Amino acid sequence: MTVAVHLENVHKSYNSIPVVNDLSFTINAGEMFGLLGPNGAGKSTTIRMLTTLTKPTQGQIEVFGYDVVSQPILAKQCLGVVLQAISVDGDLTVWENMELHGRLHHIGNPGRQRLIEQWLEYVELGTRRNSLVKTLSGGMKRRLQIARALLHQPQILFLDEPTVGLDPQTRRRLWEIIRDLNKQGMTMLLTTHYMDEVEYLCDRIGIMDNGKLISLGTLQELRSTHGEGLVMKQVGERWEYVFFPTLEDANLYLNQQQDKTGMMVRPSNLEDIFVELTGRKLD
Ligand code: ADP
Repeated sequence: MTVAVHLENVHKSYNSIPVVNDLSFTINAGEMFGLLGPNGAGKSTTIRMLTTLTKPTQGQIEVFGYDVVSQPILAKQCLGVVLQAISVDGDLTVWENMELHGRLHHIGNPGRQRLIEQWLEYVELGTRRNSLVKTLSGGMKRRLQIARALLHQPQILFLDEPTVGLDPQTRRRLWEIIRDLNKQGMTMLLTTHYMDEVEYLCDRIGIMDNGKLISLGTLQELRSTHGEGLVMKQVGERWEYVFFPTLEDANLYLNQQQDKTGMMVRPSNLEDIFVELTGRKLD
C-alpha cells in the first residue's frame, strides 16, 4: 500500500509554547482521513506544516515520500490545499483566478485551458467563469478554491475546515464533491470540528486535543475501544453516561436496576466518545 502522508514525532511551538505536541500518524493513498478537534487543538497548524506553509520545530513529515522541509517543491507538486480563510482574489474573475494558479504552477497550454474548463464544470462554476469572485456566494468561493487546488492534478488534497460558515444545503453539496473526488482515487485529509462531517465522510478519524493525537481509528474501531453501548441517566439537570462494550451489555445493566427512572440505553456515537476523551462538547 502506498503511504500518502507520514508524520513522525512532529512538534510545533510558537514563542516556546507547544501547539502541536509529538504527532505521529500515517495516511494511505486513497484514504479519506479526518482530523477532528476543538478550536485551538492544532489542526490548522498541522495542515500548514503538511503543505509546507510553516516548518515543524521538530520531527519529520513526508508527503508521497517527499520530505516537506528538505524537498518542499516536490512535495508541493503532489498536494493541493484549501485553506480556511478564502484565499481566492475577489477582484479577479473566476477564470482569471484559475489562470493565475495554472501559470504559477507552469501548466502549459492548451492543457491549462482544458483543465480550467474541466474543473470549473466539475464544481458547477462553468457559467460563472466571467464573474468577479467578490460577487460569488460563500459556497461558490469554496468550490472555486477546490477547483483551483485540483488544477495541477495533485495526489492529495488538504481541506482545512471546508464547510465552516456554510448553510446546510451548501455543506451537503460540498460533501458530495469531496466524496466523489475521493471515490475517483484522491487521497484527502480534512480538518473539522463537525462530528457529522467526519462521520459522513471519513474512513479514519484522528481526534486532536491540545496539540496531541488522543485517539485514532475508524468510527467502528473508536466505538469498539470506548464501548458500543451507552447507559444515560438523568441526574437533576445533567446526564451521566456509562459506556458498555455492547448495546446488549448496556441493556442487561439497565434491566438489573430496580429504579430505572431517568435512565435510557442507546448506541454510542462519535460525540459521546469525544466528550468522554476530552471532557467537553464541541460548539
Ligand atoms: P485549530 O485549527 O485546531 O483551531 P490552530 O492550529 O489554528 O488550531 O491553533 C493552535 C494554537 O496555536 C492556538 O492556540 C493558536 O492561537 C496558536 N497559533 C496558531 N498559529 C499561530 C501563530 N502563527 N503564532 C502564534 N500562535 C499561533
